[in-house]
Formats: sequence, C-alpha cells, structure tokens
Amino acid sequence: MEDYNFDLFVIGVGSGGVRAARMCAQYGARVATAEEKYMGGTCVNVGCVPKKLLSYAAHYHDDLEDARGFGWSSPGFEFSWETLIRNKEKEINRLNGIYKSILDDNGVTVYEARARIEGPHELYIDDRRITAKYILLAVGGWPWIPDYPGSEVAISSNEIFSLDSLPESITVVGGGYIALEFASIFTRLGAETSLIYRGEKLLRGFDEEIRDFISAEIGRHVDLKLEDDIVSIVHDNNELEVLLESGTRISSDTVLSATGRRPMTGNLGLENVAVQLSDNGAIVVDEQFQTAEPSIYAVGDAIDRLALTPVALAEGQIVATALFGGSSEPMNYANIPTTVFCHPNLATVGLTEQQALDKGIELDVYVSTVKQLKHSLSGRDELSMIKLIVEKTSDRVIGLHLVSPDAGELVQGFAVAMNCGARKADFDRTIGIHPTLAEEFVSMRMPRMSHAQ
Ligand code: FAD
Ligand code: NDP
Repeated sequence: MEDYNFDLFVIGVGSGGVRAARMCAQYGARVATAEEKYMGGTCVNVGCVPKKLLSYAAHYHDDLEDARGFGWSSPGFEFSWETLIRNKEKEINRLNGIYKSILDDNGVTVYEARARIEGPHELYIDDRRITAKYILLAVGGWPWIPDYPGSEVAISSNEIFSLDSLPESITVVGGGYIALEFASIFTRLGAETSLIYRGEKLLRGFDEEIRDFISAEIGRHVDLKLEDDIVSIVHDNNELEVLLESGTRISSDTVLSATGRRPMTGNLGLENVAVQLSDNGAIVVDEQFQTAEPSIYAVGDAIDRLALTPVALAEGQIVATALFGGSSEPMNYANIPTTVFCHPNLATVGLTEQQALDKGIELDVYVSTVKQLKHSLSGRDELSMIKLIVEKTSDRVIGLHLVSPDAGELVQGFAVAMNCGARKADFDRTIGIHPTLAEEFVSMRMPRMSHAQ
C-alpha cells in the first residue's frame, strides 16, 4: 500500500474546509490544506462577515433618524465610507490570522497556493506532487453575471466591499439574498438605489405572503423595477446607463449584479478522476458527501445544496466524523433556519405555506402584522410580519417566518424549539415577554386560514 504524504488533503480554507481540517486533525489524522486566495474563504472575506459589518453601518442611519422622536439630535454626525472600509479590512485581517492559527495550532499543514487534482490520491501545488488517502473538495462558489452588452462593467459582491468611495447611485440586479441585502445597505448609506428583478416579487422560494410583504417594505426605500430585466449597459462619461426590457433607462455610477453564484469547480483537474458534475458545475455527492471517486469528498457551496456557512460547517463536520471519528450520521437538511439581512431582516425556518400544501398537509396558518412599539415615537412607517404554519393533525409548528429588526436573532431560538417538535399548544402555554415584538409568537390564537385537504 502506498504511504501517502497525508491522511486528508482539503482544497479550500473556507467554512467547510476549515471545519473538516481542524476536526480531522483533532481525531489524529495527518491533514494538509491548500488555499489560493484568503484564509476563511468567502464568508470571512467577501461574504457574511463584511456584509454584516456594512449592514450594521447602514442600521445607524435608521437608528439616528429614529432617535429624534426620543429626544435625541445628532448634529454633525457624518458617515465616512473610507473609515468603514478601513475598519472592516482591519477586522478581516484579524480573522484571516485567526483562521490560519486554528490550522497551525492543530498541526495542519497549510499551502497558500492553488491545488489541482491529478489522480484519486494525488494532487499538485505548483510543481510539487502531494499524495493523500482522502481528498476533500471545499472549493466554494463564485459570482455569476449574465452575458449582455456592457455586462463587463457590472461588478459582483466580490468587488462591492472594496469600492474606493460610496456610490452616489447604484443599480442592483437580482431579487435574491445578495440583491436585497446590498440594496438595503446602500440606500441607508445614502446612495440612490434601484433594484431590477425579473420576477413579480422578491425572494423566489420564500413564503409567498412574506415575499409580498418584504417587497412592499423594500419598495419604501428602493426604486423597485419588478418584472423587468437588464438589456444592456452603456458607459456614458462617468455614468452607466442601464437599459431595461420595458424601455426604462436608469443612470447610476455603479451596477451590482447579484444574479447568483456557481460552484468553483473549473480548472481543478476533475477530468483526471471519476468525480461527476451536475449541469451547473456542482460536485455530485452521496449522503456521506462522497463523490463517484471513492477517495474524494466534497462539501459546501461546491455541492450547491444550501449555500450557507453553517451548512458548509455541518457538512465538513460530518465528513470528518465519518472519515476519522468512527460515526456516520447523515446531514439533516430539515428546519435549517436562514436570514436575509435586508432591512428589516427576514428570517425563516421550516416550510412555506405552499410547500406544506404541496405535501398534502392539513394546515392552520397564523399571521400577524404589527408595528413595533418603538415606532410609535420614532415615527418610522415600518411594519413587522409574523407567520406560523401549523400541522393540524399533530399541532406541530412546521413553518415559522418573521420580518422584523433582528429577525435572525429571534428565529434561531425558535429553530431549536421546532427541532424539538414544538406544538402550537407549547407556544400558547408559553408566557410572553412584554413589551416585545416576539411575544406575538405566543399570542396568536385565531388562525387566519385553515387548509383541509
Ligand atoms: P468558501 O467559503 O467559498 O471557501 C472556498 C475556498 O476555496 C475559497 O477561499 C477559495 O479561494 C478556495 N479555493 C477554491 N479553489 C481552490 C483551489 N483549486 N486551490 C486552493 N484553494 C481553492 N452565508 C450565511 O450563512 N450567512 C450570511 O450572512 C451569508 N452572507 C453572504 C454574503 C455574500 C455577499 C456571499 C457571497 C455569501 C454569503 N453567505 C452567507 C454564503 C457563505 O459565504 C457560503 O455559503 C460559505 O462561505 C461556503 O463555504 P465553503 O466552505 O463551501 O466555500
Ligand atoms: P440567489 O440565488 O439568492 O439570487 C439570485 C438572483 O438572481 C435571483 O433573484 C435570480 O432570479 C436572479 N437571476 C439569476 N439568473 C438571472 C438572469 N440570467 N437574469 C436576471 N436575474 C437572474 O443568489 P445570490 O447571488 O443573491 O446569493 C448566492 C447564495 O449565497 C444565496 O442563494 C445564499 O444561499 C447565499 N447567501 C446567503 C446569505 C445569507 O445567509 N444572509 C447572504 C448572501 C448570500 P430568480 O429567482 O427568478 O431565479
């Protein structure tokens, strides 16, 4: 039997790769990783973390406005994009160091270079040949921009975090997570913001009623162009002129394409092994994240199941435990909570009303639209929506949706309850915390709708 250089080689030091590498090393395996760009991957460098920092910055706009109704005034309070970006970069550098230390401290060998697969147990870093018993592909994804005249001037989320200055005006294309989050951020930071989306309401795949609600809320601040799409961008002096299918023209100095991401599986040497790809380039894996090449595994955005950091972490953990930890529990994709950090946040866990109906489940649906107490003095015209989907036969809460400030913070706890099988009766017998928005979850008594099959 060949004596491999390592027991495991992980390609990609992002969310999934770091978790798997660290755990395998802690189980006693000899582990190496390769990272060609940045320690910590997308989430740390051009994803969740810098996005949330920008989102905090944007919230101060609303907080300062709201404070006036409570007696505060803030003369001379100004926003500096340069300061925000400089401080953000400092924090990202700090995190890059932490990710490197996590690997170093666990005895993981780190190659800061691109890796290329040569065979089932063999890869190259530059011209150095390395062998490993197992290889884990945790290579993540990359923004995808459709091709149309002028599309080369559109930027993606990769570039948005390091713009030299705050755009005076920005056109965002897309109606998914990134589009909503950045439209919310830039409109609050002071850029004139338009959003073009081909669908009739934002966030396809989310609960329809919640989509209606968030489209209306976002539309209060952002110039929404729904059921329209981009035809071309013409560079005219310092302005970009965006032409839409409807004939509408929008001038702005920046166009952000938030039109999805694709797995980063090109030029990886996969033709040298039996690994299979789906039509969009995602690596095909089984329940244990094993590819068609038995020594090669894959997790995270590269397998394109749910492109979320905690999902990549959980998948990396499952691979580590299966390879070196002596247990092989499958990943449970049910009840994975998620939040779109637009303003207000939209958080959800479990089924949408339509998904539940499609499964033939008899339902009670509870919906409440409320104005937060805070806004009685702030004067802000912002509403929150709470929705529960309850399975009639079991009384279990099978879907929970919330549009509100800090919705992600609230829904995380409810996701635990739902994973414990919480029933509507459990919600009802729980005493509320007054005065909060969250008490509404335990106060809704009258279903808005009953669906019997
Ligand atoms: P990645 O983190 O992308 O890591 C892959 C790494 O592999 C990269 O560092 C890459 O350079 C490296 N690599 C690729 N090929 C090679 C090679 N051949 N050799 C060496 N290195 C290689 N998720 C959330 O849960 N919450 C959020 O709020 C959130 N916000 C987001 C905001 C934005 C703008 C974006 C773009 C994404 C966001 N996500 C969020 C999604 C989240 O970032 C991803 O799901 C997560 O990072 C995926 O982790 P991963 O390990 O699969 O890949
Ligand atoms: P999404 O899949 O969320 O949204 C892509 C958007 O682009 C959709 O509205 C889609 O429309 C639209 N689109 C796709 N192709 C075209 C086209 N040819 N022309 C016009 N519009 C098009 O992707 P994002 O890029 O926003 O984010 C990628 C993933 O990263 C997310 O799905 C999410 O998993 C993750 N992420 C998570 C975040 C979080 O947890 N808060 C934040 C940011 C990203 P349609 O719906 O009609 O197909």
